[in-house]
Amino acid sequence: MAIATKIQGYIEGASWIRKMFEEGERLRKIHGADKVFDFTIGNPDIEPPQEFYDELRSLAERPLPGMHRYMSNAGYEETRSAVAEVIAEASGQPVTAAEVVMTCGASGALNVVLKAILNPGEEVIILTPHFVEYKFYIDNHGGVPRDVWTDRNTFQLDLAAIEAAINDKTRAIIINTPHNPTGVIYHADSLKKLGDLVQRKERELERQIFVISDEPYARIAYDGRHVPNIFTFVDNSVIVTSHSKDLALPGERIGYLAANPRMTHVELFMEGAVFCNRTLGFVNAPALMQRMVAKLQRSSVDIGAYQKKRDLLYDNLTAMGFRMVKPDGAFYLFPQSPLADDVEFVRTAQKHNILLVPGAGFGAPGFFRIAYCVDEAMIERSLPAWRALAEEMSI
Ligand code: PLP
Repeated sequence: MAIATKIQGYIEGASWIRKMFEEGERLRKIHGADKVFDFTIGNPDIEPPQEFYDELRSLAERPLPGMHRYMSNAGYEETRSAVAEVIAEASGQPVTAAEVVMTCGASGALNVVLKAILNPGEEVIILTPHFVEYKFYIDNHGGVPRDVWTDRNTFQLDLAAIEAAINDKTRAIIINTPHNPTGVIYHADSLKKLGDLVQRKERELERQIFVISDEPYARIAYDGRHVPNIFTFVDNSVIVTSHSKDLALPGERIGYLAANPRMTHVELFMEGAVFCNRTLGFVNAPALMQRMVAKLQRSSVDIGAYQKKRDLLYDNLTAMGFRMVKPDGAFYLFPQSPLADDVEFVRTAQKHNILLVPGAGFGAPGFFRIAYCVDEAMIERSLPAWRALAEEMSI
């Protein structure tokens, strides 16, 4: 076989989003693009803010000598300082450029952190429903994922379940807030309890356990909410994030990791992270994008536009009888599947030209995901199809 058996198995088992994307292409050819309602992919439909283009123009007009050369594997000092300043403000911790590595997106940052910390066979707790790629990233670095469900009614942390899963092989816990696919923001008091729990377990098991906070949606928070900063609550914590969503730059692969300055052996951790950024083959985050985001740390796309889409879908779908937690942020809804079999429900929705991802794709059968980072007019056009689907389901 041309590829490893394991990879073959992964491709077959976890390609829901891709399958639905291909189905969308097929349906668009048959019915026309405006008759197909594709809610499958978390790819922002809006363009980066104007400041991004202003910066791009000014760099193109006045190129800096050497601006396309290799640099320190951690990234430009100027960019890391700009990032550190914003995190220091949000967390109240003395974060500096020394605790920041610029990466190829949050995905790159996650791979760097996992590579740096995992010994073979060590476990990483992931909270279900979870971003589909976590398991692959953990496997990339010889770790073992351990699924722990969040509260099935609220999708908030289930601290008792996390405690029960921690053992003498646990190396890290990945949290994601605001959350893909549920849109939940974890409450400050449960993050505080998580910090206390991890500290107690570290003492008991005599090992360092990291909380990795995956936060690419941190600036996409609604109704005046903000995302509590993990550094305030957990000493051995790392933020992994990117500008894929808040500046709508997913194709540019620009993100970073930041370590809590209070982390045990933080300097060694940073040395490991810089080494892994290099040796995983990323070498450094894209140079041009580093220059750009250094100037854009306080900018973001129009969050109000996403909130409007959330309200439009949430209000209409709940009125039709669909049941779901109201999202606090990100751009996803994760309703209960009206059919026990979420895959069958997603197939039924397809007959109405509505494309969704089954909860099974996030380790959470019985639900389905709607990505509403789509054109508002498409959401409006899709409402009659949703109504017909709700009627067919008799909800
Ligand atoms: N983590 C979560 C929860 C995501 O939803 C995504 C992308 O959709 C990522 C990480 C990866 O984002 P990036 O483009 O920064 O690699």
